[in-house]
Amino acid sequence: MNYFNYQNDQLFCEEVPVAEIAREVGTPFYLYSHRTLRNHFRVFDAAFAEVPHIVCYSVKANSNTAILRLFIREGSGVDLVSGGELYRAIKAGVDVGKVVYSGVGKRKDEIDSALKAGILMFNVESDQELETINDRAAMLGVRAGIALRVNPDVDPETHPHISTGLRENKFGIDIEASLVAYRRASSLAHLDIKGVSCHIGSQVTKTSPFIDALGRLKDLIRRLREEGIAIRYLDLGGGLGIAYDQETPPHPAEYARAIIDASKDLDCTFILEPGRVIVGNAGILVTRVLYTKRNDGKRFFIVDAGMNDLIRPSLYGAFHQIQPVLRRAREEITADVVGPICESGDFLAKGRALPVFEQEELMAVMSAGAYGFTMSSNYNSRPRIPEILVRDDRWYIIRKRETCEDLTRGEEIPDFMNT
Ligand SMILES: *Cc1c(COP(=O)(O)O)cnc(C)c1O
Repeated sequence: MNYFNYQNDQLFCEEVPVAEIAREVGTPFYLYSHRTLRNHFRVFDAAFAEVPHIVCYSVKANSNTAILRLFIREGSGVDLVSGGELYRAIKAGVDVGKVVYSGVGKRKDEIDSALKAGILMFNVESDQELETINDRAAMLGVRAGIALRVNPDVDPETHPHISTGLRENKFGIDIEASLVAYRRASSLAHLDIKGVSCHIGSQVTKTSPFIDALGRLKDLIRRLREEGIAIRYLDLGGGLGIAYDQETPPHPAEYARAIIDASKDLDCTFILEPGRVIVGNAGILVTRVLYTKRNDGKRFFIVDAGMNDLIRPSLYGAFHQIQPVLRRAREEITADVVGPICESGDFLAKGRALPVFEQEELMAVMSAGAYGFTMSSNYNSRPRIPEILVRDDRWYIIRKRETCEDLTRGEEIPDFMNT
């Protein structure tokens, strides 16, 4: 359910015509619906209402501070993967008692910032990281809350690049090895073992991989408790998928039901780290057709957004629906939608059945709210594009379009080149 709909063949975001925003801010831009973001969060949170839980929104899916603030006001905590994300979350007003810090490569300075902030826990991904966090906590005279991120070795049946819970992936600690690591952790004075965590992958469209992982974690929790290691939190990560095309992922209520039913008498507070399922379908990318052309019989729509703005099609072969902002009866053809970047991999759609777009026409690239802006870059020296938030009949620029000055900020020409 989202609030990007046609009224009289004109695409609206809530009560605002998309074309009106394009006229004001130019193209391309990201456009988010406040109502959709809020509803998605509320539906997900409500699905777990009957059990103790914390929703820790996964910042990397969309880290704009206005969007973080929206979720924080709804009671969300956050799941972070860097010191930069911690900075954003604090700036957005997060309750540090609801912050979990994941990621295989945490630097010492990042660990220190998180310890000073007083976050709930680190999801620790290796034996060495465990020692490092203990050392840093000792140095700062604090105790670090930790969970071990275990690798449950389940196949999430998603794209290999976003699958993280298989033994061959770089993430987490093998379940058997984690027992040894937990024993070690319980002997370290500056660690406070809080729980067990996992994250099996992203864009998972079935419930069964989550339940398989949960089964293995429950078994681990039982064994840890037998050894006298208290486990209070069970962090199941994120990964619930959305419909980009014909996928039929479980509704959050169905996902929660399955998890709750499979964990009776567990006596843990659940931590959930949803990203995509909250923001994915709450945002679109709006772009303009610069040129249309044929090469060797193939049809191309060349648009002003490129792989630097939305890399998912190039990186994962991801599918995003493409729609005209102004709909009318017209012929359909098969075409590629490509950007201005000097790479053949720069496309938003390939071999797609599309209406015949005209030069200057506005195009909406749907379901672009997750891993859209956050994965964008300045490649080809393209200023990053603005982010707009619509609430009812008003819209707000929540990130300005970058300027050419922004592109060279911080660069310096050494003196010797000036003589
Ligand atoms: C990326 C990530 C998430 C969020 O994944 P989604 O598929 O967007 O829900 C949650 N937890 C961890 C540890 C992650 O790396």
